[in-house]
Amino acid sequence: MINLSLKSLNQGLLEKKFSSVELTQFFLERVQKYNTDINAFITIDEEKSLAQAKHADTLIQSGKQSLLTGIPVAQKDIFCAAGWRTTCGSLMLDNFIAPYNATVIDKFNQVGAVNLGKTNMDEFAMGSSNETSYYGPVKNPWNHDLVPGGSSGGSAAAIAARLAPAATGTDTGGSIRQPASLCGFSGLKPTYGLVSRFGMIAFASSLDQAGPMAPSAEDCAVLLNVMAGHDEKDSTSINHDKEDYLVNLDQSVKGLRIGVPKEFFEEGLDGQVQQVIEDALNTYKKMGAELIDISLPNTHLAIPVYYVIAPAEASSNLSRYDGVRYGYRAKEYDDLMDMYFKTRQQGFGEEVKRRILIGTYVLSAGYYDAYYLKAQKIRQLISNDFKKAFQQCDVIMGPSAPSVAFKANEKKSDPLAMYLQDIYTISTNLAGLPGMSIPAGMVNNLPVGLQLIGNYFKESQMLNVAHAFQQETDWHQKVPKGVI
Ligand code: GLN
Repeated sequence: MINLSLKSLNQGLLEKKFSSVELTQFFLERVQKYNTDINAFITIDEEKSLAQAKHADTLIQSGKQSLLTGIPVAQKDIFCAAGWRTTCGSLMLDNFIAPYNATVIDKFNQVGAVNLGKTNMDEFAMGSSNETSYYGPVKNPWNHDLVPGGSSGGSAAAIAARLAPAATGTDTGGSIRQPASLCGFSGLKPTYGLVSRFGMIAFASSLDQAGPMAPSAEDCAVLLNVMAGHDEKDSTSINHDKEDYLVNLDQSVKGLRIGVPKEFFEEGLDGQVQQVIEDALNTYKKMGAELIDISLPNTHLAIPVYYVIAPAEASSNLSRYDGVRYGYRAKEYDDLMDMYFKTRQQGFGEEVKRRILIGTYVLSAGYYDAYYLKAQKIRQLISNDFKKAFQQCDVIMGPSAPSVAFKANEKKSDPLAMYLQDIYTISTNLAGLPGMSIPAGMVNNLPVGLQLIGNYFKESQMLNVAHAFQQETDWHQKVPKGVI
């Protein structure tokens, strides 16, 4: 059961090989068995999940099912789900029960998918190792001494250990693709505006995008079909024609022009990871694609620019956590000001506070022009680099992350080293472009992700290109020892 694709699970449900209740029970049992160790889930609510499964079974019985009906999906704990505790990995929201659904959750509910539980994550999605979570670190199922990546580390570990057949994540600077790379599965960050951000707890609003995480590109297409779509409740949601991401999966990649940016292969990239990526590019070449050398000259500015813009937006978004309206409030305080101070001092972790401080600083009257405005200008240059590159090629490829999974605590006290994890992913967020990571090989028995970057709204093509690779190779089917 644990290696079945979403399409096969759907088939199994339709052929009555198992019911949604049985399927959900099966995965809940796996979660029970492995979660104490891996810590992929923050909240599990068997009663709620099974009630949804029961409902799904009635839908299937009456012939009202679609592809995801009755299939359990693990939801990153950044999405509000009515009646579910929604913590965003923070003490600040430890006691927060969401009163409404995020649009993403609504969409999964509408097709009768089952919410399997809320997955662990870096606090307010700030991190690359899942070590900033108030609920403790998540272990990488490939090696428990290593991190799963972040910030969607819980969803990542859940997929890698096959505790869930599919999951959601969010990606502000790499949080779907980097953990997908470190845990060995497929993860896609859509074009900015394709998936609604309504009810998704905000980190950096001009960069945040939700996306699918699952073993294969085909599975990601199934999930994206549900997640994508215009939403009036999100003013940045784009009214793009609804597409079926499954229909183009089988097209040939013959003649496909793959841009290979030289800046993605410079200092900082692990040599063995580079070898895996080059082998993957050669596989595409053998399949008839053409490799084209391109340049994204402002790549080295992406991290500094991101660490001005993202904290600026975060400092503004997180000002709502004041102990008054909802969430954590300090137990003891003298007056109102003291209550604000103590609540925020106690409720936020170290990394979140660091970002709030940086963000407040770069937005302050005397420094706005020097930092924030400058960063916005460079952001435009980064977008222009891509615009130029896409005149020469159809899709861009390179590594998703500079290394395989690293040891827990290795980078925890060195924020700059941690920030470099996103060196290849962050520029796509700044440009609003779609990106994807797929398993492309192994180094020392650890997965390596190949990154695909598409042009705006070219998710369908990107998924097709990823799927073609997965018809040639079986890296996406590999699971850590002890999982089966
Ligand atoms: N690692 C990056 C950060 O810490 C990106 C996080 C994300 O994409 N949510 O901000």
